[in-house]
Parts: sequence; structure tokens; C-alpha cells
Amino acid sequence: MNEQFDVLVVGAGAVGCAIARELSRSQLRIGVVDKGCDVAAGASGRNSAVVHAGFNNKPGTLMAELCVEGNENFEALCAELDVPYKKTGKLLVAFDEAEMETLEKLLRQGEENGCKGLRMVDHAAVQKLAPNVGGFGGLYSPNTAIFDPFLYTVALAENAVYNGARFFLNNRVVAVKKDGDLFAVTTSQGVFKTRVLVNAAGMFSDKISAMVGVDEYHIYPCRGEYLILDKIANDYLTIPVYPAPTKGNSGLGIHLTPTIHGNLLVGPNAEHINDHLDYGTVSKTQDELFAAAQKLLPALQRKDVIGAFAGTRPKLASPEEGGFRDFVIKEEPSVPNFINLVGIESPGMTASMPIAKRVSAMVQGILQPAPNPDFCGKHKNIIRFAEQTPERKAELIAQDPDYGEVICRCQQITKKEICQAIENPLGVKTISGIKYRAWPTTGRCQGGYCLTRIVEILEKEYGVRVEDVAYRDEGSELFAGRVK
Ligand SMILES: Cc1cc2nc3c(=O)[nH]c(=O)nc-3n(C[C@H](O)[C@H](O)[C@H](O)COP(=O)(O)OP(=O)(O)OC[C@H]3O[C@@H](n4cnc5c(N)ncnc54)[C@H](O)[C@@H]3O)c2cc1C
Repeated sequence: MNEQFDVLVVGAGAVGCAIARELSRSQLRIGVVDKGCDVAAGASGRNSAVVHAGFNNKPGTLMAELCVEGNENFEALCAELDVPYKKTGKLLVAFDEAEMETLEKLLRQGEENGCKGLRMVDHAAVQKLAPNVGGFGGLYSPNTAIFDPFLYTVALAENAVYNGARFFLNNRVVAVKKDGDLFAVTTSQGVFKTRVLVNAAGMFSDKISAMVGVDEYHIYPCRGEYLILDKIANDYLTIPVYPAPTKGNSGLGIHLTPTIHGNLLVGPNAEHINDHLDYGTVSKTQDELFAAAQKLLPALQRKDVIGAFAGTRPKLASPEEGGFRDFVIKEEPSVPNFINLVGIESPGMTASMPIAKRVSAMVQGILQPAPNPDFCGKHKNIIRFAEQTPERKAELIAQDPDYGEVICRCQQITKKEICQAIENPLGVKTISGIKYRAWPTTGRCQGGYCLTRIVEILEKEYGVRVEDVAYRDEGSELFAGRVK
């Protein structure tokens, strides 16, 4: 492979995909390379899925500015991309006067950042907003929302592809050299040449930056673990509930968040680790998470826990320093045409599109491309059969009988939805790719019933050998062959 681009983006997380989509508004040859076998392989697929309002970030920082801007435009963006989104609001709960004072400071910080509608609430109001939650009083943020971060990233990538961008998955960048006016980017599969190089490599952004010759950043991985609870959000909690923040914490505190799919998430903790991709979950941490969640929501029961996962934060602040350092988003003066994004931790999902707009403005300044007259920002998601009216369901089954065959019983996902997930424009055929696009295997049985049925569809309809079906990355093949 020896391809040449105007702009090459390293990293197909939400930020890299948003940049590709934003750049596709112009007539540019755009490439995106990622070492993963799907988009959202890093932090973008492993987070709390909250559209933050922007009161947690220090005034005057890029984090604060881009989070507030991202929050204001997120609903419209999700509507355009057909991504599940819900403005739930958010409640921060205080258990004593000192915590109330912390929350009052947060309210003032939020107002300085431009967050609208923040207000302090008393115990009665807490009970009204979240009837099962304990606490003394709290801070209410009406503009906080929840969404599906995986489908968001997929939609950005697919829309970028629709508008002409090209994605090269399973391409790990191993070296970057200057070749005249171009960058020569060597990956595990070939060499890509580009006029402008954008580093959106998340946990490895310091390494990519060093390959280009800018060796001044160091990423400290900080793991956050979660518990996934059953679909009990409607019974317990329809609004994210957070504790009052503590000084120097590397996260926002262990919180309870309803997901857009009706589950509850508990977490994340914040633990500095040595391995950038250590997504392991630890039973001791799970006990701590559950205890912290029960403090906020005493009615929680351990039997509701159905799974666990972890994500890692690309922190610029060292463990000793604690807290947060600001995003780095800049054209590196020592290497012309190299745009560097480092330390894009929370609220990086919320800020992804404003970040992309900043990067796009830098590219416009360098390359001055003409607008793409054919750009279309609209994207269509898979039709969710279970969410349709009985009349619409009947119509869909009449159109295609595959809508009549339920493959995932827990989540009521049909064969047609699985097939649409398999036929995605990025060409991903892994179980996790199908799982996050159509949502099978995420129910109480965690794939016990549907996993083998999905593999059968891959085998029979798409000619994939069972031995080649991988869960996520190369090396995660699930089966040695058929036994019956
Ligand atoms: C526990 C946790 C909770 C969070 N909660 C929230 C939240 O509720 N709301 C919010 O707004 N934000 C949240 N965030 C932050 C948010 O998830 C990140 O800021 C965002 O996902 C960053 O996106 P990205 O595209 O920069 O990075 P990533 O999604 O990590 O993408 C980087 C990509 O680069 C690729 N890559 C790396 N090295 C190479 C290489 N050498 N060659 C090729 N490709 C490479 C990776 O495979 C990866 O796909 C949370 C983060 C964590 C960890």
C-alpha cells in the first residue's frame, strides 16, 4: 500500500472521526488510520457516555470552552447523525454542608464558563429529581445529557466515508518521516504519504508526537472501571447522579449513570496504571464501586450487576500532580503542517466536534481547499425493530421477513438488524463491531443465547469461516471449529 493524501488522521476515535467528517466538507483527500479493527477502539468506546455541561473545567481552559460549545450543539448533531441522545439533566449530591459549599463553587465556576440553568437544590428537590437517592442537597444541571458514544463515533466515521474520506483499520503507525513537503507515515500495512498530518491517537498521542519529532509530552494512563447493571434505570434512576468532587481527583468521582439503552452504569474509579491498554477489571474495585453507588442509591442490589468494563484516560497530569491538565490542540511550530492533539481526556466526547472544527480551521489555513459541493451531513442509523409501533413492525416484517426473526432475546434484536450491522460501510465483521452497532449480546444473558446464532449468520450469509470470527482484535478468534 502506498497512498497519498492531503490530510491523514492518526486515530479513529470520536475525535479523529469528527475531524475526518468535518474535513469532508472540503475537497480534500482524507485518510484515517487506526491500529484497531474498528472505530472507537480506545476511550471513545469506553466511557460514561455523558454529554457534560462544562462546569467541572477550569475557566479559561480549552476544556471548558470546547465542552460548553460541544454541549450546546450536541443534540442537533445527534439528530443529524441519527444517534440516540437524551437530555436527562444531572444531579450532584452533597452529604454535608462542606460538600454543599463545594457544589456552590462548582456552580459559580460553571456560570463563569457559560453553562446555563445551573441551580442549587435542597433535599426535597433532590428527592423529586431522583426519588431513590439519598443526600443533603445538591447541584442540578439541566443541560447534561446521555448518548451512545459508540454509535456516535460510527456515525461520524460512516458519514465521513459517505463524503469521501477513507478509513484504514488494522493499521498501526510505527514510524513517521519527512519526505520533502510530505510526511511518510509507515503503518503495519504500508506507507501513507500526506501533506498535513493530524495526531488524534489518544493514549498513544505522545508516542506519535515523538515519532514526528515533538518529544515534549508524556501520557499517564489512568484506568476507570465500571459495573454494568441490568435494565433497571426506569425503576431506579433516570438522571445521572454524581458525588461532590474531591480536590486532586483524576476523575469526576464514582457516579451512577442511566445509559441510553436503559441500563445503569456505576463508576468509574481513577487508578494510575503502567499499561496504556490495561482494560482489566478487578473484584476489589468492583466492591468499592458498588459501595460508593449504594451510598448514592441505597436501594441498589448486587444481583443487578450483569457485567463490568474499563477505559483508560490519556492524562497529561502525573499521578503526583493529580487533577486535570488542559487539552493540547495546536499546529506544532517546530514541524510545519503537523497538528497535534494530546491529553484529550474527559470531556473529550462532548468536545469532539468543537475540537474537529478547530482542527479543520487549521487545515483550511494551510491548504485553502475548495468546499465540497456534494457534502451531506445526514446519516441514517439501523432501524431498531423493538422501538417501532405494532403497525410499523408489521410493515417491516412484510417488507423483509428477517425482521420477524429475533436473534437476541434479551434485547429483542432481529436478524435484519444483525445483517445491517454486518453490512456496515467500514467493512467490520467482528462480534464487538456487530454488538455495538445493533446491540445484541448486551442483555442479561450476555450473549449466551445469541452469540452462536450471530456466528451462524456470518457463516451462512456472508461466507465467513467460524474459525475466523474474532471477538474484537486479531488474536481474539472465538472458535476452533464446529463440533456438531
Ligand atoms: C473512564 C472514562 C470516562 C469518560 N467519560 C466521558 C464522558 O462521560 N463524557 C465525555 O465527554 N468524555 C468522557 N471521557 C473522555 C472521552 O472518552 C475521551 O476524551 C475521548 O474518547 C477521546 O477521543 P479520542 O478520539 O481522542 O481518543 P480514542 O477514542 O482513544 O481514540 C484514539 C485512537 O487512536 C488509535 N491509535 C493509538 N495509537 C495508534 C497507532 N500507533 N496507530 C494507529 N492508531 C492508533 C487507537 O486505536 C484509538 O482508536 C471518558 C474517558 C474515560 C477513559
